[in-house]
Amino acid sequence: MAFEKETLIEDALKLGFSHAGFASIDTLKPMEEVRDMCAVDKCHAYNKTWTCPPGCGTVAECGERMKKYDWGILVQTTAELEDSMDYEGMMDGVNRQKENCAKFLKELQGVYPDILALTSASCDICKKCTFPDAPCRFPEKATSAMEGYGLLVSQVCKDNQMKYYYGPNTVTYTSLFLVKDR
Ligand code: SF4
Repeated sequence: MAFEKETLIEDALKLGFSHAGFASIDTLKPMEEVRDMCAVDKCHAYNKTWTCPPGCGTVAECGERMKKYDWGILVQTTAELEDSMDYEGMMDGVNRQKENCAKFLKELQGVYPDILALTSASCDICKKCTFPDAPCRFPEKATSAMEGYGLLVSQVCKDNQMKYYYGPNTVTYTSLFLVKDR
C-alpha cells in the first residue's frame, strides 16, 4: 500500500475502514452551533484537552487552520449492531475506528509532511492531558474531534457525496484527514 492520493481510497479500505471518499476543503464550514453542543459536555472532554474546545482555538481559528490544507479524505467504520441497545457492538465500532485512524495517520505522515487529523473523539493518548498548564506531549499524534472544529459530520458527508447512515441496526463513525500536498 502506497498511501499516495492516487490509491488512497483503496488503501484506506484495505487498512480496515468500511468506506472512504475524498473531501473538498471548500465544503468545510465550521459552525458556532456545533461548538455550542461541545460546551454542553456530553462527552466529558470540553475544556480538558488541547484538541477540544476551547483548547483547539476558536471556530474562526479552526476554520483558518483547515483552509491551509489542500484536500481531505473521509474515512468511516460502520458497526453492525444486534439491536439499537447493542452497546458492545457500538464500542467495537468506536475502537476499530480509533485503531484504524491511528494506523492511517501514521501511514499518511510517512508520505505527506502536514496532516490535520479530525477524528470521532477527543484525544486520549495521555492518562492526564497537560492542558492547560504545559504544551501537548505528542502534537504529531494528537487528534481533535470533527465537532471540536465546529463541523457537522452529517453535513460534511453529504457535501462530499458520502453517506452518514447505512441503515437500521448500524452505526457509523466518521473521521476526516486533511492533507497538505508536498
Ligand atoms: S497527546 Fe496528551 S497532551 Fe496532547 S492533547 Fe492528547 S492527551 Fe493532551
